[in-house]
Amino acid sequence: MTEASADSVRAEIRAWLNENWDPNLGLVAWRNKLADSGWGAPHWPKQWYGRDLPVGLVPIVDEEFERVGAVGVAKMGIRTLAAATILAHGSDFHKEKFLRRILTGEDTWCQLFSEPGSGSDLAAAMTRAERRGNRWVVNGQKVWTTSAHRADYGLLLARTNVDVPKHKGLAYFILDMRQPGVEVVPLRQMNGHASFNQVFFTDAEVAPEFLVEQDSDGWKIATTTLMHERRGADAMRSFPKSSERPERIYREVAREIAIDLEPYKWYPQRAGRVDLVLTRARETGRNTDPVVRQEIAKLLIMARCAEWTARRARAGLQQGHPGPEGSLGKLAASYVARAANRVHTMISGADAMLTGKDSPMNGVIAEILVSTPAISIAGGTDEIQKNIIAERVLKLPKEPRFDTDRPFREVPKNALPK
Ligand SMILES: Cc1cc2nc3c(=O)[nH]c(=O)nc-3n(C[C@H](O)[C@H](O)[C@H](O)COP(=O)(O)OP(=O)(O)OC[C@H]3O[C@@H](n4cnc5c(N)ncnc54)[C@H](O)[C@@H]3O)c2cc1C
Repeated sequence: MTEASADSVRAEIRAWLNENWDPNLGLVAWRNKLADSGWGAPHWPKQWYGRDLPVGLVPIVDEEFERVGAVGVAKMGIRTLAAATILAHGSDFHKEKFLRRILTGEDTWCQLFSEPGSGSDLAAAMTRAERRGNRWVVNGQKVWTTSAHRADYGLLLARTNVDVPKHKGLAYFILDMRQPGVEVVPLRQMNGHASFNQVFFTDAEVAPEFLVEQDSDGWKIATTTLMHERRGADAMRSFPKSSERPERIYREVAREIAIDLEPYKWYPQRAGRVDLVLTRARETGRNTDPVVRQEIAKLLIMARCAEWTARRARAGLQQGHPGPEGSLGKLAASYVARAANRVHTMISGADAMLTGKDSPMNGVIAEILVSTPAISIAGGTDEIQKNIIAERVLKLPKEPRFDTDRPFREVPKNALPK
């Protein structure tokens, strides 16, 4: 990044905000202005609501927004994965129809990948999409679908061909969730939240223009979505906070955050709440116990290393040199969460199991204990991350496979999709 270009970007965004930022605007109206000017997603292409800005300069824009308290585009949930996938693989029709409304937050998305029999082995998806006349018709079941109960659209991975090897017979669709053939059934988790759903398709329909690329390209496109998901799951994830300020736009953002954040409310606890460890150790007096102190130190060192690795990965990406650190971030986040779970248990003892008003930190410690397992599963389990690191980073031989070199129809499985 040259000083001159950083300075000119700062001057430009400052001038634009001076002229345009108005907290009394409606949220959608303001975000439409951001989409029109390209300042909402400045690293996106100029043609599609961006300014072609190098990713490394985006933090300058963010700083200027923060300086004046300006609200940014919608960033919560699966919509960011949808945007990244559509930018990489979508047609002009997809970009035209979806990107602006992703930025304004008007549409909500979900990711229809996992199935009861295919989570890690996503390419074994059995949900079937058949071409009937001028429609694709979808039948089958997805599971663990975060936010499906609120979603307008789903990113759907479905099987179109059982006579080719499994990775080649998949298609990637954008599915309208608000249609009669889609039934969403919530699941309750052990931490009490209900973020996920089962989604059943019975002759759900997709118009041909909602297929992304060709009907055999689904795996390639799903890999793009997953890459963005895993990249976002490192130690540097942050969640939007609403402001108490009285103007219209802040009230609308607060409402949006309350609704959009609902399925993710427990995600900070899922990451282990390393930030609470010292406070909790001091308030319980456990900071003087030599064994607990050692464990706290180990955890904080691990968390700091994970954060620096994530920062290095981001810096590499911003300079156009993606390195192996990117594959380590998600796994490191799992290790940190598990270690934090152990340390919180050492500090709080049996009280860690209590919930409710009188429990440690108003139930937050108990929520950490039952939420951290999720981080080792979501978006690819720890074991799958290790396989990826082994094969792609360390170049070890591939895991032995018996199911990739023959038609999916012939791969042993519980049942063949109709
Ligand atoms: C918080 C959260 C949010 C989620 N949100 C979504 C969502 O929005 N949309 C969606 O589609 N899915 C979602 N999921 C599902 C998630 O992607 C899957 O749970 C995950 O991919 C694992 O699949 P599975 O549960 O079927 O486990 P399985 O694949 O059955 O794995 C079971 C165990 O076997 C191990 N294993 C499997 N294969 C191998 C292998 N080859 N080598 C070594 N070990 C292996 C796994 O590591 C795991 O320990 C979410 C999950 C969580 C926890």
